[in-house]
Amino acid sequence: MEEPLDRSTTWPYREGEPGPFHYARDAHPTGVEAERALGELDGGDALLFASGTGAATALALALLQPGDTVALAQDAYYGTGVLFRELERWGLRHVLFDQTGAPPAGVQLVWIEAPSNPLLTMPDLAAAAAHPAPVVCDATAATPLHLRPLEHGCDYVLHSATKYLAGHHDALLGAVVCRRGEEAARLQELRTRTGIVAAPDAAWLLLRGLKTLEVRVERQTASARELAERLREHAAVQVVRYPGFGGLLSFDVAGAAAAHAIETGTRLIANATSLGGVDSTMESRHRWEPERVPPGLLRLSVGLEPVAALWDDLRVALAAAV
Ligand code: PLP
Repeated sequence: MEEPLDRSTTWPYREGEPGPFHYARDAHPTGVEAERALGELDGGDALLFASGTGAATALALALLQPGDTVALAQDAYYGTGVLFRELERWGLRHVLFDQTGAPPAGVQLVWIEAPSNPLLTMPDLAAAAAHPAPVVCDATAATPLHLRPLEHGCDYVLHSATKYLAGHHDALLGAVVCRRGEEAARLQELRTRTGIVAAPDAAWLLLRGLKTLEVRVERQTASARELAERLREHAAVQVVRYPGFGGLLSFDVAGAAAAHAIETGTRLIANATSLGGVDSTMESRHRWEPERVPPGLLRLSVGLEPVAALWDDLRVALAAAV
């Protein structure tokens, strides 16, 4: 059954009294329905935002004050680091740490990513949960199918719903899932005040995407596992970075020239950024984050194409790089 899409920004009062929906910046029915569905998947109270980065901004503003320090996983999505560098102007500090170990003491927030994009490291969830500060886990690449961070003691799950959750490269959207209802209420208030809100159309695309999340992610995982195995055996590939689940992997070839030949040599796999959609995408991440990603690293987001066709495409492109 299709969910209704309500694009209204205002709803009539009833006998002079505002109802549960009165102005769309506060809440709208399509968004609330999508939040209910996502909250169920992650086991908490979900809130939608204009993008994953918008969700991260809202969390930072809600949880921190000038002078506070965030312990940020050094492998976290590079845009999260860019955001915290931007927020330095408002007195928010951050320190980078290796998320495979314990976060440093003396910080007011811990921020981890499972698995990290594009290096695919997994955080030590138990060590993060043991830290006295609240813990945010960006689980964009894992999805609730593979990891439910609230069950591991994290306080907030962050998703770029642009990726697997919506899943079709046609909706820009973020979400935070909160362990506690009162913190969700505070975050919702901040969302209304700052206006970092999701549009009904994007929320509707998320609702539709969630209906196929399980079958998409299962298929993407099966294909990624097979491709990771084949890549490991290929003479042109030096390292395969894959945590063993999910549809995202990275692999390293000899250097920038080889990576360029491969990313421009595929026909089925689009040479494009982003991840988590039904169509496979691959790119050298060095172009965006040269300070931490080796020139030969290629990130591959495995879509729903037949795995044999994906391997044929990769094999031909890799042959040019040996
Ligand atoms: N977190 C991760 C792990 C991501 O990969 C991304 C985007 O690539 C984001 C957050 C930011 O999400 P958005 O692009 O929806 O703002």
